[in-house]
Amino acid sequence: MMAKVVVIGAGVVGLTTALELQRRGYSVLVLDREGIAAQASAGNAGAFAFSEVEPLATPGIMRKAPKWLLDPLGPLSVPPSYALKIAPWMFRFWKASRLGSYKDSLRAQASLMEQSAAALTRLITDIDGEHMMQRDGQMQLYEGEAEYRASLPTWELRRQHGIEFELLETREGIAERQPGLSPRFTHAGFTPNWINTVDPKNWVEHLAQAFLTRGGRIEIQETRALFPVNGAVRITLADGEIDADKVVVCAGAWSHHLARTIGDLIPLETERGYNTTLPEGAFDLRMHLTFSGHGFVATRINGGVRIGGAVELGGLDLPPNFKRADTLLNKAAKFMPGLKTEGGTQWMGFRPSLPDSLPVIGPSPSAPDVIYAFGHGHLGLTQAAGTAELVGALVDGQPTQISLTPFSASRF
Ligand SMILES: Cc1cc2nc3c(=O)[nH]c(=O)nc-3n(C[C@H](O)[C@H](O)[C@H](O)COP(=O)(O)OP(=O)(O)OC[C@H]3O[C@@H](n4cnc5c(N)ncnc54)[C@H](O)[C@@H]3O)c2cc1C
Repeated sequence: MMAKVVVIGAGVVGLTTALELQRRGYSVLVLDREGIAAQASAGNAGAFAFSEVEPLATPGIMRKAPKWLLDPLGPLSVPPSYALKIAPWMFRFWKASRLGSYKDSLRAQASLMEQSAAALTRLITDIDGEHMMQRDGQMQLYEGEAEYRASLPTWELRRQHGIEFELLETREGIAERQPGLSPRFTHAGFTPNWINTVDPKNWVEHLAQAFLTRGGRIEIQETRALFPVNGAVRITLADGEIDADKVVVCAGAWSHHLARTIGDLIPLETERGYNTTLPEGAFDLRMHLTFSGHGFVATRINGGVRIGGAVELGGLDLPPNFKRADTLLNKAAKFMPGLKTEGGTQWMGFRPSLPDSLPVIGPSPSAPDVIYAFGHGHLGLTQAAGTAELVGALVDGQPTQISLTPFSASRF
């Protein structure tokens, strides 16, 4: 009989993993307490950002952070009521930003990106997904010579990792690729191979459809706890229990709650992000734009325009503060004169983030039949296909294509 694998979480990581396990011959059941793409995977910026190999915890970042924190609606914020709770995570973030740790994270991130880019190509072919891709590239914009010069080491890093790009040093060069931007943007970096999905929610629904058509099952069930029993894993649900040969935890920003039930303490936090999606005709956006100094992006979603980003270290329970989405939209209106800001829909999502910017991919230290695949932070859509192939190899008992040591659950 085929081994039975249960995947917890029907976001982009869970469903990509479920499809990969099914492709390898397993009987797969996906459980989600809300449904398909109910959380972070629904409303993100839709970018497959394979060029973003640099971890967030860079040397020197802790000197810049206080300046950002001074503005309560700025690119990085910590609500006062969450400041004490986030302190241990911030301490680990600071440790991860030290040169040696940063270099280790960079190497690991780059290896996962390479794996993920190749895996996405295989996935698109496998599930006939090319019509859901926009291959227009991305432009990262800078205001003035100083900001541009400060970005050059990051572009050099990208060059070292084989990422193609073109640096644009005139307003005219920028306007040729994207007309209609404010003249405050004097320099840019253009990444031609950057891909966006037409809509991240539709992409996950497409994954789900392929999985169901091939005989997979998705059930709406909340998982309360996991524990190992005689070579299997018992899953406690809101109404009953089931056993599985293997369980893969892809529960996004809530994954550490399940890990805790088997005795693994993992410092997962959430970086909450905000956006507004404007209807079709809001702006003639030719590609994904990144406003580097302001921590947000503009991207085309189903013909409309999504403006969003920011990081709010506010945990899972505080209500959203949509003033953040308003602030980003007001800035975008200045940066993209002519942007029609009416008729938008606001959204807040929970990025699942570990302090060293790397996900956890690998077996639970306490229960080897439980495999973790969560904590992809800003890059869950980008890294889902690579993660799925790594989990597939683990469930098969095969060697993985890249070393999983930097992604281990016991690294903290
Ligand atoms: C504003 C913003 C912009 C972003 N832009 C990008 C981008 O352009 N590119 C990119 O790569 N990434 C981006 N991200 C990050 C990306 O959205 C996430 O990394 C990714 O969606 C995480 O996917 P996931 O499947 O791990 O988690 P989720 O999508 O959050 O899914 C987790 C699922 O688990 C379920 N669940 C949780 N607990 C339980 C339980 N106990 N029982 C049953 N089910 C449970 C939830 O209901 C949910 O459906 C962005 C994020 C934000 C907020």
